[in-house]
Amino acid sequence: MRVGVLGAGQLARMIALAGIPLGLDFIFLDPAADACANRLGESLVGDYNDPKLLAQLAERADVVTYEFENVPAEVAEFLASHTQVHPSPKALAVAQDRLIEKTFFHDIDIPTPAYAAVDSLESLKQAMADIGYPAILKSRTQGYDGKGQSMLKSADELSAAWELLQGVPAVVEAFVPFNREVSIIAVRSVSGEIVFYPLSENLHRGGILRVSECRADDAMQQQAESYVSRLLEALDYVGVLALELFEVDGKLVANEFAPRVHNSGHWTIEGAETSQFENHLRAILDLPLGSTAPVGQAAMVNFIGGLPKTEDLLKIPHAHLHLYDKSPRKGRKVAHATVRAEHQQQLSERVNNLIRLADQVDDS
Ligand code: AMP
Repeated sequence: MRVGVLGAGQLARMIALAGIPLGLDFIFLDPAADACANRLGESLVGDYNDPKLLAQLAERADVVTYEFENVPAEVAEFLASHTQVHPSPKALAVAQDRLIEKTFFHDIDIPTPAYAAVDSLESLKQAMADIGYPAILKSRTQGYDGKGQSMLKSADELSAAWELLQGVPAVVEAFVPFNREVSIIAVRSVSGEIVFYPLSENLHRGGILRVSECRADDAMQQQAESYVSRLLEALDYVGVLALELFEVDGKLVANEFAPRVHNSGHWTIEGAETSQFENHLRAILDLPLGSTAPVGQAAMVNFIGGLPKTEDLLKIPHAHLHLYDKSPRKGRKVAHATVRAEHQQQLSERVNNLIRLADQVDDS
C-alpha cells in the first residue's frame, strides 16, 4: 500500500515514521525539495496545484491524506475524483474558513464565542456594538498560530485593526476569559469506528502552542467527546481530527478544529498505546483502530526557533526527543520532546525542566 501525503513537513514525517512498521510506502508532494519528510519516501517537488504532479500523486497513491488544511479546494476535489482522499474535501472546506466553521459548529449545537462576519470597517463597528470588548478580529482564511489576528480592547482600535487585514474577509469574536485551553483528538475510520484520546491541556504563548499535557479522567472529557462525535458524524469524517476548546467555568466553548494530526496530540507518540499518527493511518486504510489508553502521565514540549543539546534533554528521565530535521529559524517549530511520569507532580517537574531547555533556545 502506498499513502500519498500533501505536504512533507514534520506532520507528514511523523505519519511516515508510524506507517513504515505497518509496511506502508509513502509519496509526498511539497514545494520544498528539502522538506523534512522527503527522505522517508518518494517525493514530488512542486506546487500543490501543479496538474502534472497531482496526476502522478493520484496515480501512484492508493489513498491520499494531507498534513495541513489550506489545501486548495480544487486540488482536493481533483484528487478525490481519481483516488481515495481522507479526510474529505468537505472537511477541508469547513476547516479552512473560520466563518463557515463557526456556522457549522452552531448548526450542530457546539457552543462558540459570540461572532459576526466582517467585510468592512462599517460592519466591524456594527458587530462590536453587539459583541462588546474585548474581542478578537481574525481573517476568515489562511490564519494559523495567531497570524492575521488583532485583539480589540476599545473602539479606538477598530480602524487600525481593520487596515491591518488589508480588506480580507474576517470574523470578529468575543474574547473568552478561559480557565484553560484543551483539545480532544478523535479518530474515525472508513467503517465508522470511533476512538478518543484523553484531553490535552494546552499552553500557548504568542498564539503558538508550547506545551500539551495529557489529562486522563478529566471532568470535561465527556462533554468534549460529545461535541467532537457530532463533528465527526456531521462531516462523515475519516482520519484524525483535533477539536480545540476553551474551558470557562466548567463549560466548553469551541475555538476551531484541525482536519489532521495535531501538535497537541504529539504526546501520544510515547504517551498512549497507539499514537495519533498510527491511528490516522489505520483510520484512512480502514484497519481496526488502536487503543488510545494513556501510558502513565504524559506531556509534550515544543522547541521553537532553536534546538536543545541532545545530552541535556535525554538526561531528563523518561524524556524522548523528536527532531524534525529542519534548520532552526525564528519562530519555526524544529522539534518536540515527550515525557512520561508516574504521577502529576513528577510530570510537572520534568515538564518544567523541558520548558527551561526550550526557553533557552526560543527566539520567538
Ligand atoms: P487560533 O489561531 O484561533 O487558534 O488562536 C490562537 C490562540 O489565540 C488560541 O489558542 C488562544 O490562546 C487565543 N485565542 C483565540 N481566540 C480566542 C478567543 N476568542 N478568546 C480568547 N483567546 C483566544
